[in-house]
Amino acid sequence: MEIYDHPTFHMACQQFDAVADLLEIPAAERDRLKFPKRSLTVAVPIKLDDGSTKVFPGYRVQHHLTLGPTKGGLRYHPDVTLGEVAALAMWMSWKCALTGLPYGGAKGGITCDPGKMSRGELERITRRYTQEMIPFIGPQIDVMAPDLGTNEQTMAWMMDTYSMHEGHAVPSIVTGKPVSIGGSLGRREATGRGVAYLVNRATDTVGLDMSKCTAVVQGYGNVGSIAALSLARYGAKVIAVSDASGGIHNAKGLDLWKLEKHVAAKKSVTAFPESEPITNEQLLLLPCEILVPAALERQITEVNAAQIKCRILAEAANGPTTPEADAIIAQRPEIFVLPDVLCNAGGVVVSYFEWVQDLQSFFWGETEITDKLFRILETAYTQILAASRKQKISMRLAALSLGVRRVQEAKRIRGLFP
Ligand code: NAD
Repeated sequence: MEIYDHPTFHMACQQFDAVADLLEIPAAERDRLKFPKRSLTVAVPIKLDDGSTKVFPGYRVQHHLTLGPTKGGLRYHPDVTLGEVAALAMWMSWKCALTGLPYGGAKGGITCDPGKMSRGELERITRRYTQEMIPFIGPQIDVMAPDLGTNEQTMAWMMDTYSMHEGHAVPSIVTGKPVSIGGSLGRREATGRGVAYLVNRATDTVGLDMSKCTAVVQGYGNVGSIAALSLARYGAKVIAVSDASGGIHNAKGLDLWKLEKHVAAKKSVTAFPESEPITNEQLLLLPCEILVPAALERQITEVNAAQIKCRILAEAANGPTTPEADAIIAQRPEIFVLPDVLCNAGGVVVSYFEWVQDLQSFFWGETEITDKLFRILETAYTQILAASRKQKISMRLAALSLGVRRVQEAKRIRGLFP
């Protein structure tokens, strides 16, 4: 499957191979579990504001269809490739399975720089991509959600484009859309809230007092900002955060409510008055109890893994730690890892609630949603922690093996068609 050739895809495959060895999955079943079921590459032509026309590459990968429709985010970033999207789709499969959701994993993306595009250009690229995807998606086939570089507005345009094609409103075609058009209460906050809930559980596990913990967050977008606010609500002191433009640090703790206003006005955390500037590389090495990478893949590598100085590594981003870094961290038992497939699963759990609410046209209150979310995360956390301790394996291996085993069992029971 050379078409998926990319360092992030190799990383996802390496992780899968370790799980397959642990679970002693027969060779004949491995490739079937590993490689995406299908993928679609499209050319997305749009008119730019200057009157010229530009074609952007767009992708969608559906990893497996065994348990239900596929589910996963849509990413707008200059580095998006088919291989990266395939890795993210594979991780989504294990994430959905370990939380017990009736989905396979998927991911999509457009190679573009949303920060340099106007609102009109973003709307046109989203609508044209959705149009190109119509034969490939549907509420019972594949359901998209926001990811890096996309948001509620992107989902609203997708829902509108699909609905115009169908001739009636189809809110269940995407999740993470605004509440006013069938989105779920608590969806925007779900990933960050879930991260903080699990960090709080991890502090219990390793014997830390949240009110005495400091936290560092890389990436202050949807996930990172809500994770920071939620950690602060649990009592942690957030001492540094960053975004693509750089980071800020205040050893006494950042005033997140003032920072929110600063970000709303300046569109970046940088130059926040009550702080010192810090680079993204330096930020990852700050001494703290809780380190939350919430931006891109492959941030903690063999270069910096020996130097990170946290007690809990909460992987809010997908794939922030390379397998080489994992091997180094395994030699550092003082670091407790909340692996990405568990740590950021809150987003897809509430996306699932949104899809169910849309299909039933019956909506729930936020307390009910948050309570149901925490119950699912609690079950997954307890199962993964127990497996990690019993089998003396890392939390990542325990989490991935729970997800892979469920998909494997489903494939076995359904059998191989024809
Ligand atoms: P977002 O676009 O809202 O925010 C991303 C943030 O990261 C922005 O602040 C951006 O400036 C920053 N960033 C980009 N490049 C950076 C770099 N090199 N160094 C530091 N910061 C950088 O995206 P998001 O939805 O918050 O997603 C963040 C991560 O969480 C991604 O890995 C995504 O796959 C993962 N995730 C998101 C969700 C969700 O519900 N949105 C769910 C699960 C996982």
